[in-house]
Amino acid sequence: MTRIAFLGLGHMGLPMARNLVKAGHEVHGFDLVPAAIGAARAAGIPVSASGADAVADAQVVITMFPAGRHVIAAYRDELLAAAAPGTLFIESSTIAVDEARTAHEMAVEAGHRNVDAPVSGGVVGAENGTLAFMVGGSDDDFAAALPLLEAMGKRIVHCGGPGLGQAAKVCNNMVLAVSQIAVAEAFVLGERLGLEHQALFDVVSQASGQCWSITTNCPVPGPVPTSPANRDYQPGFAGALMAKDLGLALQAIEQTGTDARMGRLAQQLYAAFADGDGAGRDFSGIITDIRQGT
Ligand code: NAD
Repeated sequence: MTRIAFLGLGHMGLPMARNLVKAGHEVHGFDLVPAAIGAARAAGIPVSASGADAVADAQVVITMFPAGRHVIAAYRDELLAAAAPGTLFIESSTIAVDEARTAHEMAVEAGHRNVDAPVSGGVVGAENGTLAFMVGGSDDDFAAALPLLEAMGKRIVHCGGPGLGQAAKVCNNMVLAVSQIAVAEAFVLGERLGLEHQALFDVVSQASGQCWSITTNCPVPGPVPTSPANRDYQPGFAGALMAKDLGLALQAIEQTGTDARMGRLAQQLYAAFADGDGAGRDFSGIITDIRQGT
């Protein structure tokens, strides 16, 4: 049994915290928003009066915040000073690689341990305990975090040193964005050439163009009955989150001077999709923009 402070009890954090309780750990939560606090209490998770109170007694602190600025501010303003020396900080929000490295250095300077452990798998994965974790940190810190990550996820990969969990996450989501756009373009081109959706699916899903964006997240209704296209693009993985992740990828592309033209273009297309009506729709809904030529 580990004493855990879980901070950020939103869409992802609350079900993750619940799975830690289910695995027999003692969890004290905290969130800034009354609705999240109420939902956590209703789920049987005790909520502390502040972030500092929640971490004071904890062996492990997990953060699941919207963005990097929230993580850096919370570490700097209260969490690092309030935690007992040697506390393991597991940072699971999706943030920039350099922000993850800054957070790591801040934690270590304050006498703590830290790994970055962003996730994929969405709210359904968080609820079912089937998230994928991409972890950056030392071998010892990874080993210490592993049993807790296993209570919340199914696939856990140690990607290397500090920041490299976030690096793996931005690279994966850049591939995903580019492949989802490519599949959507192929369906629209096929429509204009007179190809039935099912015929194109039957070929590509079994041929060298095969990828998750067609076999699971097929952007047209019919061939994959569970894909968001069959429910008017209800997410799934919302356009706003894809646009956020591609913003982090673009930051990394620019900082490293990488010639990633497809990644840059995907970032522009998803920023426009999210600025239009795509923020709350599944990211495969970008096929509508492509069809309309917007
Ligand atoms: P969310 O907005 O639902 O939850 C974040 C919570 O953090 C909010 O309730 C907010 O009040 C709280 N918070 C912010 N600052 C805080 C502080 N200082 N102390 C305590 N609580 C604080 O967001 P989410 O959908 O749960 O996503 C969380 C993270 O996971 C994001 O970085 C997101 O990019 C990433 N992610 C989300 C999904 C998804 O499908 N939702 C999938 C993969 C990764």
